[in-house]
Amino acid sequence: MARSALFAARFVSSVFDHRKAPSDNRPAVAFAGRSNVGKSTLINCITEGKKIAKVSSTPGKTQSLNFFIIEDRFYFVDLPGYGFAKVPPEVKKTWGKLVEGYLTEDTHLRGLVLLIDCRREFQPDDLTLLKWVVDRQLPFVIAMTKSDKLSTSQLQRTVLEMNKKIFGAQSEESVIPFSAVTNRGKKEVVQWIRNLVG
Ligand code: GDP
Repeated sequence: MARSALFAARFVSSVFDHRKAPSDNRPAVAFAGRSNVGKSTLINCITEGKKIAKVSSTPGKTQSLNFFIIEDRFYFVDLPGYGFAKVPPEVKKTWGKLVEGYLTEDTHLRGLVLLIDCRREFQPDDLTLLKWVVDRQLPFVIAMTKSDKLSTSQLQRTVLEMNKKIFGAQSEESVIPFSAVTNRGKKEVVQWIRNLVG
């Protein structure tokens, strides 16, 4: 199979403290987004075989960093989803500590795939998270999920607006419309990750 095809992946561990992340020297790529944005679906879509990302949504795993080893060379890190309407403050605090700790301190992290539902506005939590990565000058890409839900012109407008908002200019590579239904953007997301980890 061509190198740009799907990633061979295996679940490794869930950790509740960012300092317990795997400490070998393999690089890592993180995935983040609001709950229900389509994060598990995207991860499953770009990996081979069974639906590996299901583990993230099982009870008790929702506030953990979930590590998958990819091709024995690097990690995918599935960050806990956020943005539930009725989250107790202590859960939000735990999320913040875990995710901020990982994104700002982990030395193996190479970049972030931030998922935004193409029908929704950027939310304060999305920006908070993005800021942690930008402050470290880590590369990131925005995957606009569920792009099959918009018409071509609506999607084009949304991508342009997103580019302007985040990058202040048009930069097609940094906002990727994605759909697990049509497979749109799948190749681009895979390629972005491959470019990142070499
Ligand atoms: P997560 O909470 O971010 O992991 O979200 P999931 O991957 O579990 O997806 C949440 C819901 O969105 C599910 O009902 C999915 O079937 C649906 N979904 C995910 N990706 C897509 C997509 O590309 N297009 C459409 N139409 N629905 C999607």
